[in-house]
Amino acid sequence: MSAYLKTSTEERLEGIAICSGVAIGTAFLVDDPRGRIIRVRLREADIEPEIARFRRAVEIAQEQLNAVYQRLREALGEEQAYILEAHVLLLQDQTIGRQIEQFIRDNRANAEWAVRVVSNRLLEVYAEITDEYMRARGTDLEDVSNRIITILSGTQPRTFENFSEDAILVADDLLPSIAAEMNAEKIHGFATNAGGWTSHTAIIARSLNIPAVAGLRHITSHIRSGETIIIDGNAGQVIVRPAPDTLRFYLEQRSREQQQAVYDLEERDLPAITHDGQPIALRANIELTDELDSVHRFNAAGIGLFRSEFLYAKAESGLPSEEEQYEVYKLLAETSGHEGAVIRTFDLGGDKLHLDGFKAERNPALGLRAIRLSFKVEEVFHTQLRAILRAAVHGNLKIVLPMISNLDELRYAKQTIAEIAQELRAQHIPHTDDLAIGVMIEVPSAIFLAEHFAREAAFFSLGTNDLTQYLLAVDRTNEHVNHLFDSFHPSVLRAIKLLIQAAQNAQIPVTVCGEMASNPAQALVLLGLGIFDLSMTPSAIPLIKRVIRAVDLSLVQKLATHALTLVTPAEVNRYVHEEAAKLLAHHEPVSTQGT
Ligand code: PEP
Ligand code: MG
Repeated sequence: MSAYLKTSTEERLEGIAICSGVAIGTAFLVDDPRGRIIRVRLREADIEPEIARFRRAVEIAQEQLNAVYQRLREALGEEQAYILEAHVLLLQDQTIGRQIEQFIRDNRANAEWAVRVVSNRLLEVYAEITDEYMRARGTDLEDVSNRIITILSGTQPRTFENFSEDAILVADDLLPSIAAEMNAEKIHGFATNAGGWTSHTAIIARSLNIPAVAGLRHITSHIRSGETIIIDGNAGQVIVRPAPDTLRFYLEQRSREQQQAVYDLEERDLPAITHDGQPIALRANIELTDELDSVHRFNAAGIGLFRSEFLYAKAESGLPSEEEQYEVYKLLAETSGHEGAVIRTFDLGGDKLHLDGFKAERNPALGLRAIRLSFKVEEVFHTQLRAILRAAVHGNLKIVLPMISNLDELRYAKQTIAEIAQELRAQHIPHTDDLAIGVMIEVPSAIFLAEHFAREAAFFSLGTNDLTQYLLAVDRTNEHVNHLFDSFHPSVLRAIKLLIQAAQNAQIPVTVCGEMASNPAQALVLLGLGIFDLSMTPSAIPLIKRVIRAVDLSLVQKLATHALTLVTPAEVNRYVHEEAAKLLAHHEPVSTQGT
């Protein structure tokens, strides 16, 4: 463990608040084998057994990859499964294996270290290669070496069942796939070194309504499993080994929050309508069907965004079949009432979940993500579309397409959906073939073509998380540039204005389903700009509803009009927070400070 670690004194660490609320509990450190390989110098007598250990790990990796290959072949067919062949070939490559064994002998090094050093050297060579195909083989090598290291270090596939009742997860980063797997009832908070407000781990934390702080940089070296930790998801702070006074303070705050949650539920049936009478639709963003309960608890106007990619999260159970997906979408259709549910076709890649064999691109956010990946793995896409079209007979389902950056993508996707409908018709399978098809507006190019998109799309879903990321060239997951990620950047506001104009001209609806919708100050500006349809994590609905009910539309319109004239993010933030505080002054405890 690191020299940072102190044993008894209280420490406070500053990070980024990603889900509000206070959690008090016992730290559970999630270890990431990739980052923690230590070098061990072997005794002469241990060298040959170490080589044998390495060979055994390679065999296990082969067995694992063969199993994945079979699964992929069954799901996607022979042609698509080829992506794993490169991995298998690398494992069989005697030269690499011999280099690693030689390294163990020459340096008396442990196998984990040898695999890391030899593969890093090879990766440097791959990185120099200009041929793109060959360069991509570097990614395969990285994948394979990570797999072998994981086997060597004896890391078991994680299970999240054995936590203490008050566990708080502390990790370098929490992959969305891990977050999606967790037992939300047992996990009371998150604290991570990496991440930012709109990273997908943050989104999961908010949808599970678990207090969380990310971007702490060194939290994993400040605490051990079993120590007491407090997550202050309101202030973006983590307190480790709290002193008795601190603990008392937070216990009181937690009980006030529990009381507030009771008030929230009492207000669930109040209409979402501004003080001067403008109704606003407040919908739910959900990732997992477990959250359906909260859609009803917070009285959401249907599901404004179902992030279907989380169905693909449990990699060990393979890709979800058409039947599995049909059951999920049918449930959404049946339980989302007349407002219905908008299903986003899978947005895999980027910082999100991955399909096996597609990992580790150089610039994942700019790579084979979302609709681009859907077109690449057509079988997987077709399976999803069949399931959606079939489930749509049970209620009001719509489809939204993620990361559309040009009209051809929209046209091709619509044509594919029409073909799937035809196929189902030919097979006499009940389905709906006139589903509304909308576009996620989240890539700047779509803003500039919005008037054309508006003619061919039934609605827009404005994804302000990615729009901010791509417009400002700020990686939404990178804690080093998190201070630059600001949806109050004047360019973002101006882009939103352009989009609203195009949608109004064409008379198509716009829902904002990015995190701006759940931030009170940002939601007010959206309202003032002309957005009357917001979709957010269900637990944010009570606060946003209170804010909406407290303001007059005419006043927030003035606020938004002036905000649009400002030219730096700081000016916009200062102005909007000051003005919003005035508008809400008589409505305590409504605050514009985050959710
Ligand atoms: C967005 O980009 O704003 C959005 C709603 O989609 P996601 O956060 O899942 O990328
Ligand atoms: Mg997005």
